[in-house]
Amino acid sequence: MKMKTWALAVVLAVSIPAWFSPAARAQSLGAGFSQVGTPAVSGKVYQFSKIADGVYYATSNGPMATGGNHPIIVNENDVMLVDDGTTPAAARALLEDLKLITNKPVRWVVNTHFHYDHTDGNSIFGPEVQIIGHEYVRKAILDDVLHHEPFKTSVGNISIQAEALKKQIADEKDAGKRATLETQIAVVQADLEELKNIKPTPPTMTYSSKMTLYSGQREIQILFLGRGHTRGDTVVYLPKERIVCTGDLMESRLAYMGNGVFDEWVTTLDALKELDFDAVLPGHGVPFHEKSLITAFQYYLKDLMSQVGVLRKQGLSAEQAAQKVDLTSHKADFPQIQSPGADLRGVRRMYEWMDERAGR
Ligand SMILES: [Zn+2]
Repeated sequence: MKMKTWALAVVLAVSIPAWFSPAARAQSLGAGFSQVGTPAVSGKVYQFSKIADGVYYATSNGPMATGGNHPIIVNENDVMLVDDGTTPAAARALLEDLKLITNKPVRWVVNTHFHYDHTDGNSIFGPEVQIIGHEYVRKAILDDVLHHEPFKTSVGNISIQAEALKKQIADEKDAGKRATLETQIAVVQADLEELKNIKPTPPTMTYSSKMTLYSGQREIQILFLGRGHTRGDTVVYLPKERIVCTGDLMESRLAYMGNGVFDEWVTTLDALKELDFDAVLPGHGVPFHEKSLITAFQYYLKDLMSQVGVLRKQGLSAEQAAQKVDLTSHKADFPQIQSPGADLRGVRRMYEWMDERAGR
């Protein structure tokens, strides 16, 4: 599948720039992306892949828990970050590594949605930086966000992960493997510590349906296309460059669904497909360009809704339904599906959403 070649290219470009042949990229990206063979720049924590002139995609491969990936838009005089990391430390590391690609100041941060792995760098910025988000993002962050999902269970989940690693280390006889596990547990424990430093900080500038920023020659559209992954997802669209940054509304993999508005998510993705773009830079996963992956995700959502609806009618609990649903037919598009079952947090939310729809 073409998309997968593209995705693989970006992944490998991060670590093996030499592999990333100009011909391969030109073929997979099309005419709008002629700056082929651009090597990735690696910092201490983040790596930057060049997507177009002044547009980068920052990812991290594990020295620190960082959250999602970041599209970075370097304008004539300033820089826009799309999302700012899972903790203040991750955001500081991003700013430090960003010096490798530009010395222009960050003046804009967009929060694609309220989830902590996209917004909890907000607190490190001073008044010279405008933090832009949909009006729902400000409301959600100010509404005791640390006691709601997904943050509420995240600390517990990371603690469980740390305990599991400790047990693995105790049982591991091979010194090399033990050293790898020890590196992993150091990252997890540092992450747990850093989560304590989070100070929920809402956007300083909100909008309800559309806002357009002009910085030098750059036009940046900030769009709310409808509810989906959350009740306030922003898409950042660069019409001239034909690039769209989708946050978690559309990832290259299956998104977390614990705050989903499922039927509207499908129609919002229709609106996304109406935009004219050649590259999608998602909040997690890898960049891709094929609209067929968006359609595949719509099919997944519809299938999940339909199966969960049937199981709920049969009287099964959300826990039972999450084990019983079978979405393995979507495995070709979303290889993370290895067996029947779905993430319980998403299925629980789907039960709640079905109650909301039924007016209960
Ligand atoms: Zn999210």
